[in-house]
Amino acid sequence: MATTHKTRMLIIGSGPAGLSAAIYGARAGMEPIVVQGLQPGGQLTITTDVENYPGFREVIQGPWLMQEMEAQAVHVGTRMLWDTITSVDLAGPVFKAIGDGGDVYEGDTLVIATGAQAKWLGVPGEQELSGKGVSACATCDGFFYRGKKVVVIGGGNTAVEEALYLTNHSDDVTLIHRRDSLRSEKILQDRLLANPKISVLWNKQVDQFLAGPDGALHAVALTDTETGATSEFETEGAFVAIGHAPATDLFKGKLDMDETGYLLVEPGTPKTKIPGVFAAGDVSDHVYRQAITAAGTGCMAALDAERYLAARNFPGITEPSGY
Ligand code: NDP
Repeated sequence: MATTHKTRMLIIGSGPAGLSAAIYGARAGMEPIVVQGLQPGGQLTITTDVENYPGFREVIQGPWLMQEMEAQAVHVGTRMLWDTITSVDLAGPVFKAIGDGGDVYEGDTLVIATGAQAKWLGVPGEQELSGKGVSACATCDGFFYRGKKVVVIGGGNTAVEEALYLTNHSDDVTLIHRRDSLRSEKILQDRLLANPKISVLWNKQVDQFLAGPDGALHAVALTDTETGATSEFETEGAFVAIGHAPATDLFKGKLDMDETGYLLVEPGTPKTKIPGVFAAGDVSDHVYRQAITAAGTGCMAALDAERYLAARNFPGITEPSGY
């Protein structure tokens, strides 16, 4: 039977943004509910080693970090529920989300932390070699390819930035693009083309990721998009950088988005155009996209939610100190 769950702070999404909002919200007495989606814990649960989350001298595992964040959120009073939200009603003053089994989630405030996902090529070998040479995040995984030959696939800003970033670790970086011109900003293109560590393979489409005898990535299979000629290009690391897709379908027509679907917020805050509705993490950030920045905006969303409720005299909720 469908149930109605009520809370002062409803959080959709359980990555670093959602769980950080939950930790702060619970400690402020808002008894948050986190609705976890199809990928509980978010993108960090599909990475392995994490070396750039502050506070850990040794390498930690992404899934472990998310388990710890969730345990901390639960410890301070968050309710974690598993459901897939299929529609939302943002008319207020109570914000509603409907799960696919008919359960209704009602929040006096709403934090949207549904994240974004890297787009994949969808070709053979890609998922099988994920974590064994194939990655969608150079900032996360580039370090593991120190001194190795790597490729980046794509021609937009992300691909060019990832190629430039990888030159911190590798002297042999190749950008593989399906056309003969880049989509990225001119200044980035100039930097890329002037960098002696980077070569570009134009007009090449990646058809397959090929494993070597050790089961790790060994080469990519290519087709020339002009001549149709096929070839193989040896590499130990391949970074797919063909864009990210924010999980914002639920909010189309209800909240403002940029042309690529990222939620728009008041600059420097997690506030959407609807008072009481906040967006945190990658769902509203196509630039930084890091666990630590997501956690930071999750914290900001909780503080703003607390302030929103305090201004409406919700019992037991006070303005955050030092705000
Ligand atoms: P984009 O959509 O801008 O670029 C995607 C690239 O991937 C394009 O070159 C596209 O090729 C290529 N591509 C897409 N699908 C495939 C496919 N199936 N096979 C091969 N290649 C494919 O995505 P980005 O992530 O680069 O950027 C997203 C947004 O974020 C943009 O607005 C960008 O400007 C912004 N951004 C800004 C940054 C900054 O300001 N510093 C940094 C990173 C992103 P084609 O060109 O042929 O379509």
